[in-house]
Amino acid sequence: MPTPRRHYLFMSTPVGPLGSGLGGGVELTLLNLSQGLRQRGHQVTVVAPEQSTLGDGPIVTIPGRWQPTAHTQGRATPATLPADAVLAHMWTYARQHQAAFDLIVNLAYDWLPFYLTPFFHTPVAHFVTMGSLSEVMDAAIHQVADQYPNRLGAYTQAQAATFGDQHAFQILGSAIDLSLYDFCDTPGTALAWMGRISPEKGLEDALAATAQTQTPLKILGKLEDPDYWQRLCQQFPQAPDSYLGFLPTAALQQVVGQCRALLMTPRWVEAFGNVAIEALACGVPVIAYNRGGPAEIIRPGETGWLVEPDDVSGLVQAIQRIDQLDRRACRRQAEQQYSLDALAIRFEAWFEAILH
Ligand code: UDP
Repeated sequence: MPTPRRHYLFMSTPVGPLGSGLGGGVELTLLNLSQGLRQRGHQVTVVAPEQSTLGDGPIVTIPGRWQPTAHTQGRATPATLPADAVLAHMWTYARQHQAAFDLIVNLAYDWLPFYLTPFFHTPVAHFVTMGSLSEVMDAAIHQVADQYPNRLGAYTQAQAATFGDQHAFQILGSAIDLSLYDFCDTPGTALAWMGRISPEKGLEDALAATAQTQTPLKILGKLEDPDYWQRLCQQFPQAPDSYLGFLPTAALQQVVGQCRALLMTPRWVEAFGNVAIEALACGVPVIAYNRGGPAEIIRPGETGWLVEPDDVSGLVQAIQRIDQLDRRACRRQAEQQYSLDALAIRFEAWFEAILH
């Protein structure tokens, strides 16, 4: 039987507007997922904070104050809502308009949407975009798992495992629009590092390893934590010249494609790491710490190297072995595993299981 055409309501992250970079990888995931589902004939309406941009699909933008980001809080931090919270306003919209949708899909890593789940007539599915970070979120997520089997999705097994109950999650991965990333077979000498500049991303290790190997580094990403960046600039005098800013996809893929490899040096359990598949799509191998999402993406010896976590000398050794990797195999892996259609098919199957 063909899959029925559905109308989904996607609830974006409330930590900042789509397109700002403040939401990290979830911004790209939301864009790609909604595009993939539309290409399969579904309707997707996105609700997001004011000033959000999202290609040409329908978007409802909502004013209000942004949520603090969960990864900057401690484990014991309670759930917070600022006055005039955009998160609360977004879910008021969802409550008022729920009858027009088959399914509401939450992408916010916040307590409120999990708590509100039983109060909605239209089913609410939750795509959880980070690993376990706080007690209050763990409890809210477990409560949904107990009450509604099959309502939780995650990027990777490693991410789901941080919540202690891996089987409560559908593992859905991520994807990119491959047509936006050009394969480049003739890189220069530089390495790349991409992501939010924030302590959990461990940029200092990439700077240390490239200083030791005397390799130029190109740093791309949202400057999320200026104090952290200042400390890095003091410790590594080459850092300011390496930083190219927060680039849109077209410019990002051009810079990354010309690099010999991407370094991923997260201190936390990276839920996925969209930057890994963006690099692969350009034919760029990925050298990453062997923890979290990258460990489930990289094929060691073929499309990258996995290194003992937090071991800069391991990064140095991997940098010296980049030439053993095949840039064509990197592009091929992106095409085989991370196309928009593959992602949309996985999500569609999850959504249909909920709706039946
Ligand atoms: N990114 C970008 N421009 C840049 C650097 C990064 O748009 O100059 C985006 C990148 O495309 C990716 C996101 O930032 O989608 C980082 O997401 P990732 O999943 O790697 O990590 P997260 O921020 O979710 O922890």
